[in-house]
Amino acid sequence: MIDYLHLLLESVGEDAGEVASYIPELANADPDRLAVAVATLDGEVYVAGDADTEFTIQSISKPFTYALAIADQGLDAVLERIDVEPSGDAFNEISLDPDTGRPRNPMINAGAIASHALVSGDDADARVERILDLYSRLAGRRLSIAEDVFESELSEADRNMALAYMLRTVKTLKGDPADVVRGYTRQCSVSVTVRDLARMASVLAAGGKTPDGDQVLDPAVNLQVLSVMATCGMYNSAGDWLTSVGIPAKSGVAGGLMGVLPGQVGIAVFSPRLDAHGNSTRGVRMFERMNHDLGLHLMAPVESAHSVSRRLVRESAAVHEISGDLHFIEAERVLRGFAQEPVGDTPVVVDLDRVHRANDIARRMLLEGIRRLYIDGHDVRIVDPWGVLGTAETGSGELVRGEQAHGGYVPAAFPDVASAVRG
Ligand code: GLU
Repeated sequence: MIDYLHLLLESVGEDAGEVASYIPELANADPDRLAVAVATLDGEVYVAGDADTEFTIQSISKPFTYALAIADQGLDAVLERIDVEPSGDAFNEISLDPDTGRPRNPMINAGAIASHALVSGDDADARVERILDLYSRLAGRRLSIAEDVFESELSEADRNMALAYMLRTVKTLKGDPADVVRGYTRQCSVSVTVRDLARMASVLAAGGKTPDGDQVLDPAVNLQVLSVMATCGMYNSAGDWLTSVGIPAKSGVAGGLMGVLPGQVGIAVFSPRLDAHGNSTRGVRMFERMNHDLGLHLMAPVESAHSVSRRLVRESAAVHEISGDLHFIEAERVLRGFAQEPVGDTPVVVDLDRVHRANDIARRMLLEGIRRLYIDGHDVRIVDPWGVLGTAETGSGELVRGEQAHGGYVPAAFPDVASAVRG
């Protein structure tokens, strides 16, 4: 992996564009810095290039603060104030949707300032502290604010100030707009490396859970954030991005760019020169290349396992031997196998020994399939050594599991589970 990342940096080619200069301090960044990091869901982080160089998070902060606003206020309350429609506008456009009067989405500054103001806290400092705590938990280390960038941006924050005052006129923002812009500017000035961003992205990829098992974001909040990143995360080139790279992402004007491949990996790159949309020029190119090489695109069809379920006959019992992780589509195959079982009282063994995970819908489908087998008159036995079916739905805790189930399909030693799934 590391070799690949080095190759990626070597092959990224000529840089183009300019370092952002509307924030004076950003103009001092070394434009030639280049870094990439890939973080797996179990905590491995692979890096290449200037992986320990710190830069300010800028707009990459927006999805995380939006998450905190939803966690604090609830999704409905946030949707009443901030829409989730791609705007096609530049990030700092002074606009509200003419019909709803709301910022079009939380990834442009108007929506991001509104999200910031929705974070709970007794005062502006408390809000920033809670935001910094969240980012730090996601990054797995204590982050801090680059005070020089903060001061520099605040001295030029007239446009964001205008947005905040405008938000107050439509009652989206209560309190002092200057305080909110100050807090928002501090949020944008948090210092990170590509390691931090890749790890933060990997938590989003894992449904809000850190590699240490800390559920930092509720999965439903996480889903909302990723959806908005997918449609609105790349300024006014979100459409180009979704077609050419195909994963939820967020860029920032300091040159950072973070992408999330749900269920698989978090990726971050850094290169300060920006294209006309304000996205890192080489950063975008690196992601395009990674999509080409590693197949990131979410719309690429996932090949479904061929041997999810096979039927064997052993000692007059029909054994449905199931393997692999189960989602809706694999569970559908399993149920198709069950449906072919001739009506009668043949013992049927559902062998889940090779299944380690089933998502909620697959679990419910399996339980329903088992219930039907039972209703058709079969003596159904389940081998579930890994507890894939769980206990919540059966309420009995009696489903077959444990080491004794391991290695044997003959279910005689196990309790009759039909009653447990009778439902
Ligand atoms: N702090 C920056 C601003 O509000 C963030 C912009 C960005 O990264 O897109 O202007």
